[in-house]
Amino acid sequence: MRATIFHEPGKVTVEDRGTPAAGPGEIRLRVAAASLCASDIRVYKGEKHAAPGVVPGHEIAGVVDAAGEGVTGVAEGDRVVLCPILACGQCRFCQLGRRNRCVSRRTLGYDLDGGFAEWLRVPAEIVALGHVFPVPADLPLEIAALTEPSACVLNSLELCGVGPGSSLAIVGAGPMGLLHLIMARAAGAGPIIVSEPVAERREIAKRWGADLALDPARDDVLGAVRAATRGYGADAVVLSVGISSLVGGAIDLVRKQGVVNLFAGFPPGQAVPFDPNVIHYGEIVLSGSQNATSDQYRRTVALLRAVPHIDEVVTNRYGIERAPEAYASRLELNGLKSLVAFPGVDGR
Ligand SMILES: [Zn+2]
Ligand SMILES: [Zn+2]
Repeated sequence: MRATIFHEPGKVTVEDRGTPAAGPGEIRLRVAAASLCASDIRVYKGEKHAAPGVVPGHEIAGVVDAAGEGVTGVAEGDRVVLCPILACGQCRFCQLGRRNRCVSRRTLGYDLDGGFAEWLRVPAEIVALGHVFPVPADLPLEIAALTEPSACVLNSLELCGVGPGSSLAIVGAGPMGLLHLIMARAAGAGPIIVSEPVAERREIAKRWGADLALDPARDDVLGAVRAATRGYGADAVVLSVGISSLVGGAIDLVRKQGVVNLFAGFPPGQAVPFDPNVIHYGEIVLSGSQNATSDQYRRTVALLRAVPHIDEVVTNRYGIERAPEAYASRLELNGLKSLVAFPGVDGR
């Protein structure tokens, strides 16, 4: 089979690899679509670790084309998405249902082979953990591949307590900031205020339902957020761009007792100055979020059908031979989400 291989920062190639077989407890997936994540780009830039020689890609949808001995609950022909997390089930976080924080977590696409290949051997741990989720017949697998990033956003929005009538400020309208926008819209949140320096992305934010899409270089974002929230500040603020100098300004946008979520990852070793009294007297919750729980994955698969504009999030599609170009497209900020696609594999 043809597979994308991560060798080292800056070096991703497409090569021949042996087509995997499904051993006991495992399934083999014919990959239909795997989307590229900002974290794949961070690995490419050397800001985040992945094992040299691994097949990247953790946002994966496909069709089961072989099930190994002893596999139950998943069968050949099933259209599925994966939660790419392998978790121990025994540590404190696993017992709390927070497998995304498992102390011995391993993840497809970083530690074990992921989805930028024609086939994927899904480890027995993933199958046994219930991290293989069936996709509804009316959801195309190309959209289902967005389950992982969307589950990350659901985790972020739930951590922020965003629901009907919540005011939300989103700093950064890249693909993940825009996913926050449309999922918060689907949850009935509003007003939603987006801050984004790229005009094209502000236009998309407006078209996808942002009440305000502001240019931080030109507009008074703090004044606009306050004006839109009767002077309180936003109930929740999500920082969806990994620029640490923006943290202080994001905290300024939240109301007292509101939640600020650092959703994006940052380059390592960054120190952030802010006034701790703002947190203290405002009783502000400052948090981060990364990945999602198994249950958030399950609910996201069901939710995706109801998210407006979800079918417009992927703008760039590449066949397996052109997978390195998917990386280039993200580095150049060309379009929104990029996808490695295998046309014709949908199982319907
Ligand atoms: Zn991702
Ligand atoms: Zn664990």
